[in-house]
Parts: sequence; C-alpha cells; structure tokens
Amino acid sequence: MSITFSIVAPVFNEQDNIPELYRRVRETMDSTGEPWELILVDDGCMDGSTDRIRELAAQDARVRPIIFARNFGHQIAVTAGLDYARGQAVVIIDADLQDPPEVTTDLIARWREGYEVVYAVRAEREGETWFKKVTASLFYRVIYRITDVKIPLDTGDFRLLDRKVVDVMKGMRERHRFLRGMAAWVGFRQIGVEYKRGVRYSGVTKYPFKKMFRLALNAITGFSYFPLQVATYLGFISASVSILAIPIVVALRMTGSQAFFGQASTLIAVLFLGGVQLISLGILGEYIGRLYDEAKGRPLYIVREAPED
Ligand code: UDP
Ligand code: MG
Repeated sequence: MSITFSIVAPVFNEQDNIPELYRRVRETMDSTGEPWELILVDDGCMDGSTDRIRELAAQDARVRPIIFARNFGHQIAVTAGLDYARGQAVVIIDADLQDPPEVTTDLIARWREGYEVVYAVRAEREGETWFKKVTASLFYRVIYRITDVKIPLDTGDFRLLDRKVVDVMKGMRERHRFLRGMAAWVGFRQIGVEYKRGVRYSGVTKYPFKKMFRLALNAITGFSYFPLQVATYLGFISASVSILAIPIVVALRMTGSQAFFGQASTLIAVLFLGGVQLISLGILGEYIGRLYDEAKGRPLYIVREAPED
C-alpha cells in the first residue's frame, strides 16, 4: 500500500509526550482519510521513550520506530526520518507537542493547492522564557541578513515537504546541518502558514543554549562566507587607519606635541590587533573543522533498530 503522508518526529527523552503525540497525530491523520505513517526517531533516549515507541509500534503498524545507537542531535534525527519516510508528503513535527499536530491539516490543504514546501510560521510563542524568545528572534534575523538563501523568519522545522523536495534533500549529505536553510535552498514553490506555538506538553527543553549556539553556527557557516570576509574588511580598515595615522603622528612630533607618547597607545593597538587576529583564526577554524568532518565521510547517524521495509 502506498503511503500518502509521513509524519516525522525526532524524540530525545520525551517519554510522557509520546502517547499524547501518537493520539493527536492519529486523530488528525485519520481525518484525512489517506494512508499515513508516524516515524518516531529515537535519538539516543535514556528515559523510557524507547519502550514507549516499541509499545506503540507493536500496537499500530503505522508507527515506525528508528532507534539510534546514541544521541546524534535533532537535525540528524529529522534527517533519518526523511530518509525512511515513504509518503508523498512528509511532515516534520516536534515530539513535545509545541507544534500542534492539528495544524498539519492546514499544511496539507496548501500542499493540495500545489505548494511543495509548506512551512509553519510561529505567529505567537506561548510560555517560553524571554531569553529564549529574544535569542530565537535575534537568531532568525541574523541568519536572514548574512546568509545567501532567504530563510523565512520565525520558522522552525515544523513543515510539510513534497516527495520531490525530500528526494533532493536526501541527496544533500552535509553533516553540520541546518534543515530550514536546506529546504529554502532547494527552491520549489514555498508558502508559509501561521500558527500559534504552544507550550511543551511535558518535560523540559532539550535545546540548551549551547545546542542553540551550535545550530546558529551551522546555519551561518553552512550558508554564508560572511564571517570569513569580515577578516578582510577589518584588515582593510586597520591598514587604512595606520596609513592615515603615520603622517598625523609625524606632523604632531614635528610641532612638538606630546600626543600618542607612551606605552598605553602602543598596548591598545597591539591588543586590538591581537584580538582581531585570534578571532579571525577561530572563524577559520570553524570552517576548517567542518571541512575536516566532511572529509572523514563518516555516516551521518548509526541506527540500532529500524523497520525493514
Ligand atoms: N531533540 C532530539 N535530539 C536532541 C534534542 C532534541 O531529537 O538532541 C528533539 C526533541 O525531543 C523534540 C525536538 O527535537 O522533539 C525539539 O526539541 P525541544 O523541544 O527540546 O526544543 P525547543 O522547542 O525547546 O527549541
Ligand atoms: Mg520544544
């Protein structure tokens, strides 16, 4: 039987969310009258999530578990879901119910109109800390400004992808992934649907600041050379400043001025340039480290258990 819709949910220690997620996805998807599957990607869960996923799969053959050998991170878990999905359209959704499964109906309606990527835009975010909201908002805007693809603002991974898009994305095997950028990069007909992002059903966020920061770095390095070019701009600026400063200092000395005497000015200039050079080296390092990871060519993820078909 061919599958029309695949719902992909990455799971990292979400034991109390899984039964509710399944219930709401089943209700929504059954109402479409089309065959569907729910792919739960167990991203190295250490709580009871794995057992819950297995229980559901035993009860309902439409639930397909993919169990990782360890934690590989959210973006990689979603990637595995896309690799295993068989549907004509694939919906990526968080397992914590912050993305209401019912919104899928709106995404499907747009897909039926002929759109190949239907992304869900967070018109409102409920019950999140101001820190999360401010950093998230800043994140989307910085990425929008400096990357070469126009990634829609306030849009997470909650979206529907047509089979054509999924097939293209399956061929993009970069390891430091930013799926939103990749989905924007492929093109096709895209449209946003607004929704209200709810509160977590249970548990706490699995995206601490460190992981968010990593994701932001992957987004920037994956879609822009801007940080590398900053070193060039700063180099030109400091070279220009010194060319202007040399004749000024010479003139000051000749007129007997004491300005720019002493160690302080030297020290400031040396520290400033030293700082700029170290930051530039660090930025280079970020790109080189990523190149090195790509060169190793390791698999993106390791699966401990997956459905055979
Ligand atoms: N997640 C994952 N692997 C990770 C971290 C998170 O699969 O290493 C999953 C998590 O279970 C959830 C989704 O990714 O389904 C989004 O994570 P979370 O809700 O913690 O992020 P937030 O909504 O707080 O940004
Ligand atoms: Mg969440």
